[in-house]
Amino acid sequence: MTFPPRVFYDPASFRDEIRQAQADGKRVGLVPTMGALHQGHLSLVAESQKSCDLTVVTIFVNPTQFAPGEDFAKYPRTLEADLKLLSAFDPVWVLVPEVDAMYPPGNTTVVQAPEIAQSLEGAFRPSHFDGVATIVLKLFQAAPADMAFFGQKDFQQVRVIEEMVRDLIVPIEIVRCPIIREANGLAMSSRNRYLSPEEREIALSISRSLEEASQQIKEGETNAQSLRDKIEQTLRDAGFREIDYVSIACPRTLKSVETIEGDVVILVAAKVGSTRLIDNILVSSPVSS
Ligand code: AMP
Repeated sequence: MTFPPRVFYDPASFRDEIRQAQADGKRVGLVPTMGALHQGHLSLVAESQKSCDLTVVTIFVNPTQFAPGEDFAKYPRTLEADLKLLSAFDPVWVLVPEVDAMYPPGNTTVVQAPEIAQSLEGAFRPSHFDGVATIVLKLFQAAPADMAFFGQKDFQQVRVIEEMVRDLIVPIEIVRCPIIREANGLAMSSRNRYLSPEEREIALSISRSLEEASQQIKEGETNAQSLRDKIEQTLRDAGFREIDYVSIACPRTLKSVETIEGDVVILVAAKVGSTRLIDNILVSSPVSS
């Protein structure tokens, strides 16, 4: 069975209809995306369906989270295919706003992302998280859902959103969902479609190196520097030339640790060809903190 989703273009009518659904007693789950949907996105929709009566998906390639020279113009836009994938779920409403609808002409208000946005991605993409925080808050206004679902794939992003929601007293429950991977371990991403077969092979070393490091932590390795070095070496041996960061950090503060104890997250960002990939893994060390 397929169920063509109801598509909206105007944020104000989207909000009115969502409020009406809530007034009728429906619990609403929001899945914000930039489109070019894959199984990772669909897992968020499936998760929303478990706890909500209506799932609303937004598809919007947000210009303010791309820096000049990044891939905004060539970011994949595949609306027809996206709607087809969403038609496996019911009921789903989709908002596909124009840029002017989200950024009304003359707009100058922005959200300054919380401090946790400064390191890692923020160090390499300085205005990125202000753009993310700004659009996500706008989307929360256009889609005043009860819950919003985000992937752990963008680990720092979900931490930024969690802090923003706490700091700005936003009445939405944030739900983190696990990373969906291809059978070979590659974390699914809309940007994977840029990869040539050779680059895809190189890209696999990210998840492989994270898995190996995770295994060593579970066997009691506590030296973060030595593990970071091993991950970098694996990536270089596979063919990565530009590694932005390899970090072993506290999952709450994202501050890098030297001694691995308790829960840590290992985060990697690296470029293959012109495609920048990120991935991460949460690990519980048997060494208690
Ligand atoms: P994007 O369209 O890249 O902005 O992603 C929209 C949402 O999907 C974000 O919350 C991402 O973290 C999530 N997402 C992207 N890739 C994956 C994946 N492989 N597994 C789980 N969630 C994902």
